[in-house]
Amino acid sequence: MAVIIALAGNPNSGKTTLFNALTGSNQYVGNWPGVTVEQKGGKLKGQSDVEIMDLPGIYSLSPYTLEEVVARKYLVEERPDAILNIVDGTNLERNLYLSTQLLELGIPVVLAINMMDLVKKNGDEINISKLSKELGCEVVEISALKGTGIKEATDAVVKAAKSGQSQRIVHKFDKTVESALEEIEGMLTGVKEDQKRYFAIKLFEGDEKISEQLKSMPDVSTVVKRVEDAMDDDAESIITNERYTYIASLMSKCYKKVNKGLTVSDRIDRIVTNRILALPIFVVIMFIVYYIAVSTIGTVVTDWTNDVLFGEWIQGGAESLLESVGASDWVISLVVDGILGGIAAPIGFAPQMAIVFFFLSILEDCGYMARVAFIMDRIFRRFGLSGRSFIPFLISSGCGVPGIMSTRTIENEKDRRMTMMTTCSIPCGAKLPVIALIAGYLLDGAWWLAPVMYFVGIAVVVISCIILKKMRAFAGDPAPFVIELPQYHVPSIKGVLMHVWERVWAFLKKAGTILFLCCVVMWFLASFGFSDGAFGLVETEDSLLRYIGGAIAWIFVPLGFGTWQAVASSLSGFVTKEGILSTMGVLAGLGEVEEYELSMHDQFAAFFPTGIAAVSFLIFNLFDSPCLAALSTMAKEIGGRKKFWFAVLFQNVSAYCLALVVYQIGGLILGEVAFGVGTVAAVIVLAGILYLLFRPDPNKKASNIAANAKQAA
Ligand code: GDP
Ligand code: MG
Repeated sequence: MAVIIALAGNPNSGKTTLFNALTGSNQYVGNWPGVTVEQKGGKLKGQSDVEIMDLPGIYSLSPYTLEEVVARKYLVEERPDAILNIVDGTNLERNLYLSTQLLELGIPVVLAINMMDLVKKNGDEINISKLSKELGCEVVEISALKGTGIKEATDAVVKAAKSGQSQRIVHKFDKTVESALEEIEGMLTGVKEDQKRYFAIKLFEGDEKISEQLKSMPDVSTVVKRVEDAMDDDAESIITNERYTYIASLMSKCYKKVNKGLTVSDRIDRIVTNRILALPIFVVIMFIVYYIAVSTIGTVVTDWTNDVLFGEWIQGGAESLLESVGASDWVISLVVDGILGGIAAPIGFAPQMAIVFFFLSILEDCGYMARVAFIMDRIFRRFGLSGRSFIPFLISSGCGVPGIMSTRTIENEKDRRMTMMTTCSIPCGAKLPVIALIAGYLLDGAWWLAPVMYFVGIAVVVISCIILKKMRAFAGDPAPFVIELPQYHVPSIKGVLMHVWERVWAFLKKAGTILFLCCVVMWFLASFGFSDGAFGLVETEDSLLRYIGGAIAWIFVPLGFGTWQAVASSLSGFVTKEGILSTMGVLAGLGEVEEYELSMHDQFAAFFPTGIAAVSFLIFNLFDSPCLAALSTMAKEIGGRKKFWFAVLFQNVSAYCLALVVYQIGGLILGEVAFGVGTVAAVIVLAGILYLLFRPDPNKKASNIAANAKQAA
């Protein structure tokens, strides 16, 4: 008989790690909530009749966040055959809160206490048999990471699923509550017997969303009112308090904590999350990461890939081969300059990208990034932002698409929208090659550019959010942010390498599909055009692309990069950010210079008149609208066409303004740009930004007035 087992538990309890171990799949394991926002299924290794579902992490079955809604909907409506409740043994007390609720669903539950390697290392003890008796369900100790106990846990849960027998309820609420629950159960119609308790409790609590799962809503108000009056508390608090009391009693009976003073983790945290040192430490760490990635291996590998591997061997080889079989000129040009040249440019930067991801995933996996979210919360809070928003930002340093998806953990709709709009300002993997190109080729290997751009990205996010927060559409207090700081641990090499490979593979796949297409289109546009009144192969100077790029180049002249090549590259960035490099690669290959005489390096440099123009180009392309994939995700998630277009407009206008200020004012200071209309425009724009940034919050004033009026009345 085929059965479905759901993995449920708090965020960060190790569900996905276990899921991967059980199914042999490679789902993303993250050290913060919001990584798994939708359930994912897989077959149990060696037992094809058992399906495992990885649910998003949740703290309770109350519908506060979208993840809780997703998980609860799944558990109540789809009804898996059994639940394997993953409990973080190092945070037993808090994790048991969800367990008490899962046990009421009328579905067989097995409790897997995870992270036992850490619990044992700390010297703590959990009395499994007692806990099992008190909860009324089977309890197994496991370590998803080390793979211990997971066979016992799966055997137990598969057996429970196949038996179809849910556990009897051991935990009872106060007598008054129980009799009210019984009364409510009696009013339920069309509900299966074993689900009645769950629905009765939810109705008693006054859960607003429960009507979605019930055919008819009984009126329970008089019953609830009676209990509330008798116990002098509101219904929801009565249930919550009783759960906590119950858990406290479980803890005292079943858990022995060895008090050894500060753990190593605590000691590290004293320094790393220190009020003064935290931020400088983070800055230094990120600088080192980007420095190593971009400078040590840096352009050596890139140069070799571009000029030797692709330039001489692959492109040269392909050219001789095609010539020897008598291919026509345009075929040779399409393959050699268009496709190979266009794909070579971003691929040359793949090693640097892999190194950044290698370090980022180490930082993430060892537990440091969770601290960064915590540190950032302290800073963000001052500006009315929640640290919750920082998690999407961290994820976006890999890719904006999961970054946008992870905003689902943000309860506050306005904050969520704001985070979605700004999260792609953090340089993602695809933007990294663009930064590396500008740094390595146009600024003589400026090693500091990549880390600086990372922090400029964070600054742009913070500034955008402050400005947006003062608009009525985004006003409001930040939501409270709770994140558990996992104990530091040595990252799993397998996990880290898997993560790096995932990114590199996604990149290679992109190179084979969308970048390939982009190259062909760009090659066509750059090779064909009208010459002497006839359409056909032309010199790039007469090509369609030159005309298209040239026609809108005036828009970018104030930003310093009004060459049609730079403009055409920026345009392809709206499709995919690696497309920027591909287009440059194609255009460099088609240039008038005798092929392969000039290195890529010099050809790219020819597109930009000055260094500051190249920086301005970079800034525009980092902070304008993200790629198509991220845009379509945003369109789906943001909730409304108007909101979507506002976001797109905001992104592009702010990128344009920022590039303008950097080019005009930066150029003036460096002596590369003369004073003129552009300078005046830049100063006006800068003043505008500063005004929006520092003006008093009009919403605060309004709410103060309202409060005063209330007081007066
Ligand atoms: P999820 O949010 O519940 O899906 O949790 P993840 O599977 O993403 O794991 C969160 C973090 O806990 C990751 O850094 C894992 O490497 C780590 N982790 C998971 N299981 C264990 C375990 O048994 N022992 C230790 N030490 N770490 C674990
Ligand atoms: Mg997960």
